[in-house]
Amino acid sequence: MLQQTQVKTVIPYFRKFIKQYKSLESLSKVSESQILKLWEGLGYYSRARNLLATTRLLVKKYDSKLPNNLQEIKKLPGVGNYTANALLGFIYNKPTLAIDGNVKRVFARYLNKLESKINFEKLISLNKKNLFATNRNSDLIEALMEFGALICKPKDPKCSQCCLNKSCRYLKSPKKINTEKRKKVKIMDFNIFCYLNKRKQIALTKKNEISFLKNFNLPLIKKVNNNSVSKDWRFLKNYKNSISNLNLNINLYYKFSNKIPKSYNWYSLNSNKELIPSFTKKIFSQVSTLF
Ligand code: SF4
Repeated sequence: MLQQTQVKTVIPYFRKFIKQYKSLESLSKVSESQILKLWEGLGYYSRARNLLATTRLLVKKYDSKLPNNLQEIKKLPGVGNYTANALLGFIYNKPTLAIDGNVKRVFARYLNKLESKINFEKLISLNKKNLFATNRNSDLIEALMEFGALICKPKDPKCSQCCLNKSCRYLKSPKKINTEKRKKVKIMDFNIFCYLNKRKQIALTKKNEISFLKNFNLPLIKKVNNNSVSKDWRFLKNYKNSISNLNLNINLYYKFSNKIPKSYNWYSLNSNKELIPSFTKKIFSQVSTLF
């Protein structure tokens, strides 16, 4: 849940989730739509699908236990290098490091080097040989993350309170490296076409080509190209919608029709029951103004 998402956003979802699913076995039995329903609004839905696939695999193949070596753990759906190292450290107290953005910044500042000039893989392998001279590997991993988040912060590091300030090269150097990175914001233009009927319904389909909204109920979405929009469609409004580092510039069109393409189904604009992503709910509120 925490991938690409802030802790404060995740907390209510996490609480609800662990209240409902108390064991790997119970989680492995739910359907994809049940887990997606709980995830609704959190975004990045592939995480929920991967979690479910991993859970089923653990129950079936690994006797409901997480493997305790890097190679096996990385075979699980959605588990990359970072997550694998974090799990091995947190759960099995293995001498590894989970290198996230905060941890990278701490090392880059301490050494006063660009992150790209630091060999983090080497650092992990040195730690296997006890670079940090501790048996508390789980605590070390968490401490490094928290240190980056609370002391060696992206802006205004708290150097006067820092336990490393006597040896930190960043603090001593007159030529301080710049560790602040800004996410590149992508702007994308879309036309969204909504079939509506007089019963206050909208036609949605799961067949869409937008990868970050795959398999969800959406109206027809097309990337803006040079072709003009057919006269059947009436323009409703232009609005912006941000998803992570994407800024979507949306032109919303509609038409009233009782005929819809095969892969579409009607949904009530007042419905809260179906699994509708928040992206689509925003479209609901825009077209509801027509009724
Ligand atoms: S002294 Fe400042 S820059 Fe150096 S590690 Fe500590 S907080 Fe970061």
